Amino acid sequence: MTKRIVILGTGITSVTAIKAIREIDLDSEIYLMGQEKIYPYNRVKLSKGLFNNLEENSILLQKKEWYEQNKVKIFINTKVVNINTDSFELILCDGSKVKYDKLLIATGSSNSIPPIDGIGKDGVYTLRSLKDALNIKNSLNESAQVIIIGGGIQGLEMAWIVHQHGKKATIIELQSRLMPYQLDNKASEILKDIIQGYGIEILTNTGVVKITGDTKVASILIDKEVKLKCDMVIYSTGIKANKELISNTKVETARGIVVNNKMETNIKNIYAAGDIAQFDNKVIGLWNIAIAQGKVAGYNIAGKETVYEKITPVTTLNAFGTSLFSMGCVDESESTKVLIDEDDNLKIYRKIFIKNNKVIGAIFIGDMKRSPLLKLAIEKGIRIGDVNLSVDELLDKLKNNK
Ligand SMILES: Cc1cc2nc3c(=O)[nH]c(=O)nc-3n(C[C@H](O)[C@H](O)[C@H](O)COP(=O)(O)OP(=O)(O)OC[C@H]3O[C@@H](n4cnc5c(N)ncnc54)[C@H](O)[C@@H]3O)c2cc1C
Repeated sequence: MTKRIVILGTGITSVTAIKAIREIDLDSEIYLMGQEKIYPYNRVKLSKGLFNNLEENSILLQKKEWYEQNKVKIFINTKVVNINTDSFELILCDGSKVKYDKLLIATGSSNSIPPIDGIGKDGVYTLRSLKDALNIKNSLNESAQVIIIGGGIQGLEMAWIVHQHGKKATIIELQSRLMPYQLDNKASEILKDIIQGYGIEILTNTGVVKITGDTKVASILIDKEVKLKCDMVIYSTGIKANKELISNTKVETARGIVVNNKMETNIKNIYAAGDIAQFDNKVIGLWNIAIAQGKVAGYNIAGKETVYEKITPVTTLNAFGTSLFSMGCVDESESTKVLIDEDDNLKIYRKIFIKNNKVIGAIFIGDMKRSPLLKLAIEKGIRIGDVNLSVDELLDKLKNNK
């Protein structure tokens, strides 16, 4: 009997899983269901550039015909609200039911909503979907002063977009530095200098107490006394896994849906991958990890036993006339040796973290070329030998070792 594989969520994880399934299994029915009104698209593109290229054709992951060619029945604008794991059924928002033999949950994540009084006012936005991007784009045209809450990677990308639209941007970060999880103090300071050079204001160690205005945002309060005027707020304060639909099932969850290295959940025939999945105690939320996990899930669903090899998380920023990456473990207390090369005038900073003769992490500002080499060194666990080297000597050594 032909099996029915149902894939929930129309993101990159699902499309990658479908490709993997169809490499092996050309017969099973595949149903792909997602709540957005558009076919699967490249979410990463939403924050790169100036919102110029948001037409469907330039962001779709696959042409619409691809789904038919791969015998995928796609249901967009379809929210799944519940799963009955005993009767192998999904319950859709209109109350109808859909049976599955195997299920992949790839419902991704949403932006966390910070608990700030007034966060629901008109003029307050966040960027996760194409709809959000279009709303922000429209509102930006009518705004002059924009407050960005959150100095992480996405907040900074938003500030760059706002600045490029000729609007005044202010970044507010609760912690003491920008990109606090990916950069050290020095790298954050360099980045702050670069960003401020564009006339963008940055307030660190600052929390937003309240968003004020009648129905539409007019200002924010950063303490009881200090008010900053603005006509638009964009928040970017982390993500949370979209796991509500399994809340009354026995599928094990913590921050995300807990999976093993085959992307299997604790319930037979139910898999999870991508931003929703918690593997090895971590929910990462990065594109290349979603691809790798989607592929493993797809193969296992189709019967080809495959295990997920951990991928080094890499965060990249290309904005403000500079570029930077941060990868792996960037905690000095975890390292036995740290190599640093810096040039304050040129705004170049390169730091490599080593533990027991192996590279475990790196922060580079102004030199992107080395990212693949360092990523490979971390993932392969290449032994360096003598670590009393300069950054360039180490990079040469790694190059020769490839
Ligand atoms: C603006 C932006 C920029 C980014 N830039 C980068 C970057 O530069 N580099 C990087 O590595 N990562 C980046 N990311 C993160 C990256 O996009 C995600 O890691 C990736 O999209 C995760 O893919 P996914 O398929 O697991 O989930 P998602 O892309 O989140 O897709 C899940 C889909 O499931 C749908 N869904 C959720 N619940 C239900 C339900 N109950 N019923 C039906 N459908 C449902 C969602 O609406 C969504 O369409 C960025 C993210 C954003 C938002």
